[in-house]
Amino acid sequence: MLTSTGVVILVLIFAFAAFLLALPAMLGRREQRRRAAVAGDGPDDGGARLEEQLASSRQPFRRMRDRWRARRLDDDTWDDLEETLLLADVGVPTTTEILDALRARARREGVRDADALTPLLEAEITASLDHEDRTLHHRPGQPSVWLLVGVNGVGKTTTAAKLARRERDAGRRVLLVAADTFRAAAAEQLAAWGAMLDVDVVRGHEGGDPASVVFDAVQSARARGIDVVVVDTAGRLHTQRNLMEELAKVRRIVERFDGALAEVLLVLDATTGQNGLVQAREFTSAVGVTGVVLAKLDGTAKGGIALAVERELDAPVKLVGVGESADDLVTFEPARFAAALIG
Ligand code: GDP
Repeated sequence: MLTSTGVVILVLIFAFAAFLLALPAMLGRREQRRRAAVAGDGPDDGGARLEEQLASSRQPFRRMRDRWRARRLDDDTWDDLEETLLLADVGVPTTTEILDALRARARREGVRDADALTPLLEAEITASLDHEDRTLHHRPGQPSVWLLVGVNGVGKTTTAAKLARRERDAGRRVLLVAADTFRAAAAEQLAAWGAMLDVDVVRGHEGGDPASVVFDAVQSARARGIDVVVVDTAGRLHTQRNLMEELAKVRRIVERFDGALAEVLLVLDATTGQNGLVQAREFTSAVGVTGVVLAKLDGTAKGGIALAVERELDAPVKLVGVGESADDLVTFEPARFAAALIG
């Protein structure tokens, strides 16, 4: 006869054996998720990584939800929500829009508890990120040129490397172009990424004409059957006006290759929040922007800036940078973003 201690020990042994048997499968799934996230093609993992990296931005919303627990919906709730949205750097105009829409909906649906606002808020944030096309465009049969623009230090070169890695992993032939001929360090940094990723890098002479570097690069990309040309441009010249003129010239040069210009991606540093928006507007009017890459979203409490960016610049956030290595790039998906922010 087994004593009760014996039964407990047997149960523990069985449980431990079951755990050991399940372990390889669990680790395998984890590795699969990691690989898919690295390749940038795992929608589930993009969400999971975003959730992980948006922890700082989520904090104020978490605290707000704690305060809302078991409370009636009243003026304090609305004040609390307004403050939290502003704290997350959503900006005044977008905050006002979200509040107005939520108030109307709460009234319509007879919402009485503060708690019940949470799913409505998540839905409203998703709805306000309403750009339909967030894909990166490719031109079949010819190189697709993606211009990266933005001020120095926002994460342009790192984003160029991340895009190169993502495209390379998707089986495309990639060429990186260092079009910042004014700063040797920028070209060297890109060359180092290229060596690390085993992707070719074209760079011009220091002080040379960026537009002609880009022209030569696209021409050679055509001859070599390259699929994607990622161009890292200058982020600072003697004056901001010079910079904008230079970038407009680079754009015009690419446009000479019929249809080759597939993306002009503005890279913004999420940690600068609203302050980055003024400069961002200059870029959108000078070179026309097809999408935004929000870099450094990891570790900032200003994740709400994504909402302000889309509203103020009328351009979709296509990707977010969530770290310094080549695989730290996540496709931006509004519903996942809203869930990661509010959840
Ligand atoms: P550029 O001057 O615009 O080309 O900026 P860089 O690509 O040189 O990036 C400036 C700094 O930001 C570097 O230290 C990068 O490692 C860092 N960086 C770039 N993207 C990210 C990101 O998504 N997250 C974090 N945490 N750091 C980043």
